[in-house]
Amino acid sequence: MSEAIYDVIVIGGGPAGMIAAGRAGQLGQSVLLLEKNKELGIKLLMTGKDRCNVTHFSEDKNELIEAYGKDGKFLYSAFAIFGNREVMDFFENRGVKLKVERGNRVFPVSDKSSDIRWALLNFLKKHEVKIETRATVSGIISGDILDDNNSESFQKTIKGIVLTSGEKVEAKKYVITTGGLSYPATGSTGDGYEWAKELGHKIVKPRPALSPIILADWFREDLEGLSLKNIELSIFQDKKKNDSKFGEMLFTKNGISGPVVLDLSKKVGELFEGIKEEPTESRIDLRLDLKPALDFVKLDKRIQRDFQAGNNRQFKNILDKLLPKKLIPVVIKLSKINPDKQVNLITREERKRLVRALKEFPLHPEKLVGFGKAIITTGGVDLKEVNSKTMQSRLVNNLYFAGEVLNLDGPTGGYNLQIAWSTGYIAGGE
Ligand SMILES: Cc1cc2nc3c(=O)[nH]c(=O)nc-3n(C[C@H](O)[C@H](O)[C@H](O)COP(=O)(O)OP(=O)(O)OC[C@H]3O[C@@H](n4cnc5c(N)ncnc54)[C@H](O)[C@@H]3O)c2cc1C
Repeated sequence: MSEAIYDVIVIGGGPAGMIAAGRAGQLGQSVLLLEKNKELGIKLLMTGKDRCNVTHFSEDKNELIEAYGKDGKFLYSAFAIFGNREVMDFFENRGVKLKVERGNRVFPVSDKSSDIRWALLNFLKKHEVKIETRATVSGIISGDILDDNNSESFQKTIKGIVLTSGEKVEAKKYVITTGGLSYPATGSTGDGYEWAKELGHKIVKPRPALSPIILADWFREDLEGLSLKNIELSIFQDKKKNDSKFGEMLFTKNGISGPVVLDLSKKVGELFEGIKEEPTESRIDLRLDLKPALDFVKLDKRIQRDFQAGNNRQFKNILDKLLPKKLIPVVIKLSKINPDKQVNLITREERKRLVRALKEFPLHPEKLVGFGKAIITTGGVDLKEVNSKTMQSRLVNNLYFAGEVLNLDGPTGGYNLQIAWSTGYIAGGE
């Protein structure tokens, strides 16, 4: 690596780092992008099941911001400059045709995440960004300088970074884009959190989010591989409904996953955490509504009609129109109705129990799968200490952050890459 002093050093070659480095280069800066893996954007290649849900389509920026919850307002300035529309133009103008799928999810027409990375690599090349792969940053050297605004006080500044090879590199400005802690095998091992902490930044405790959930239920192995559409999953805390989502989910080897589960997992994690911090009798349960389009009364009527049409068939043989095959034995057990009983002998009480099993199918979460399989990390560098217009640290004069290392996260649907694109572009410079 050369001894030169760069205008900008970007640490971490994921989506946020690539866009930040390219943007700085576009503005005429000399830029060095450092990535510990042997190639850039390893996690990016895995996104959207290798298809890359590159952003979320919405004409209304406020609606988009609301999806990020209370911290979303931090993104106003970044979205005004490089929001979802600008991201779509960015890729389309660089030869990647995009399409909008169900749920306003935006993908490349080719269904290849590698096309998104290809466009970014071309962007970096065009603007002469120097890329060093297999370059792991092991530490940051900082010192104090006189504060520009107050000649009596000092401000922290970064003087250089050190690589595991022992080499030291310097720049005028440093951008940390090392991501979170999720899928650590892709290189995201939380290094940026440690450096930020050493430099005096507050780190909101990183926790796995958009994570599959492990269940404690006896039937979890029986349902492995079952995927369900048009269901509603709800979280109950001490039997009171806390949140719910409508859509798709699937049963995995030892639990549940799929869009509604991932989107509810952050809340489940928070509730579990609350229980741990302050042990109470509090209980977190999930309930699955297998027939959300029908209320209890309508579903009961529908079942009565099925029973009448089924005449004297056995209970176990009449549920195939109502339920996928794998669910039938489990629902029968939950309803506590004798599977061999003739349907015309089933009592009103028993039918009610069946309706309940279908509308309030109980699931007992044991824990979240954790960072190894969580799509993103919630938590990170406290937003109060970062300027939302520039992504500059409020504590260290030549330090910037972008991407998942920040305490920002969104639901599934392209929202998380949008954080990386918007904050990365802004961190690259005006
Ligand atoms: C399986 C999966 C699917 C996903 N699908 C989608 C999707 O379809 N849509 C969506 O919006 N989001 C998706 N996400 C989330 C999205 O990938 C992340 O939010 C995004 O990659 C964050 O970008 P980033 O640049 O901040 O961090 P990262 O992508 O994590 O990149 C950080 C980079 O920094 C490097 N690095 C770390 N430490 C060092 C160091 N010490 N020295 C040098 N380099 C270092 C890492 O190797 C890594 O390459 C998915 C995530 C996963 C795991």
